[in-house]
Amino acid sequence: MEKVKCLIIGSGPAGYTAAIYAARAGLSPLMYTGPQPGGQLMITNDVENYPGYPDGRQGPEMMEDFKKQAERFDTVIRDEIIVKVDFTGPIHKAWSESGQEIHAHTVIIATGASAKWLGIPGEERLQNRGVSACAVCDGFFFRKQEVAIVGAGDTAAEESTYLAKICSKVHLLVRRDEMRASKIMQERVLNTPNLIVHWNTEAEEVLGDQGVDGIRIVNNKTGEKSTLAVTGFFVAIGHKPNTDIFADWLTLDNSGYIVVEPGRTFTGIEGVFACGDAQDKIYRQAVTAAGTGCMAALDAERYLVEKGV
Ligand code: NDP
Repeated sequence: MEKVKCLIIGSGPAGYTAAIYAARAGLSPLMYTGPQPGGQLMITNDVENYPGYPDGRQGPEMMEDFKKQAERFDTVIRDEIIVKVDFTGPIHKAWSESGQEIHAHTVIIATGASAKWLGIPGEERLQNRGVSACAVCDGFFFRKQEVAIVGAGDTAAEESTYLAKICSKVHLLVRRDEMRASKIMQERVLNTPNLIVHWNTEAEEVLGDQGVDGIRIVNNKTGEKSTLAVTGFFVAIGHKPNTDIFADWLTLDNSGYIVVEPGRTFTGIEGVFACGDAQDKIYRQAVTAAGTGCMAALDAERYLVEKGV
């Protein structure tokens, strides 16, 4: 068993930023990176919207920078997964996959979310070469080009209208004859001239060798198949927050996101703070995740001062 002042679970921009702040405040944080050290940016190419990188940075390189900065201030980083927690008492308990038991005065949850994918041929092979799950991150690379996007919720509505401002034409593929998105978002979609909605339509295959050059689609009512000549393919069918192990302890919303006090990182359990995409289904940007990581570390530090730890 190991005792720490601050345990950080997860290692994307939120987790590393929390580590930098917690370490500099003398909390000697212990970080468990989770199954994908570095988080979603590890599967992203160029990041051009993170301030401070005027020439952009590759996602994995950026996460290496974050990691080095966290290590410079004495964060202990373990590439391992926390599989179980117990938030019953004032000292919070966690167990790693290898069986290590950790007792922590504060826990910062930064486990992020994972984009859902369709699982169709070509989708994984062409990820970062035309296939993306983030229009705000990657739309710019397809300016003045024709692209397709799958989904029918608020994310798909928002991202398709965002893409329509940058791209010459956007095809929105909706699998039913109606959208789930809020009415106002749907109206925006339907009133955007270069955004074409394909109802009852599913993507069957992403085509291309080195990059995307088309999508094979099928109308699930008529069975009619066709090909859209697009260079970008966006998937916006939702995210799954990585919060399963906290379900017995914390309040999650109906999509599984951790509910925090508005504007804060408090989870409702003293000493347990949540930041990044695990508690944010709206913004989901590296820079917003980093911002809430900072907030969680400051909240943890203040909590420890109050408790005299
Ligand atoms: P949602 O779960 O709301 O929607 C997912 C959409 O993807 C559904 O329309 C679903 O279709 C479709 N879908 C799922 N699987 C497939 C598939 N295999 N093939 C084709 N389509 C598929 O996710 P969102 O990310 O859109 O939103 C998540 C939450 O975040 C919501 O509560 C939303 O309101 C909120 N949000 C709010 C925003 C805002 O307020 N500005 C912005 C973005 C999100 P079907 O409808 O047929 O099931």
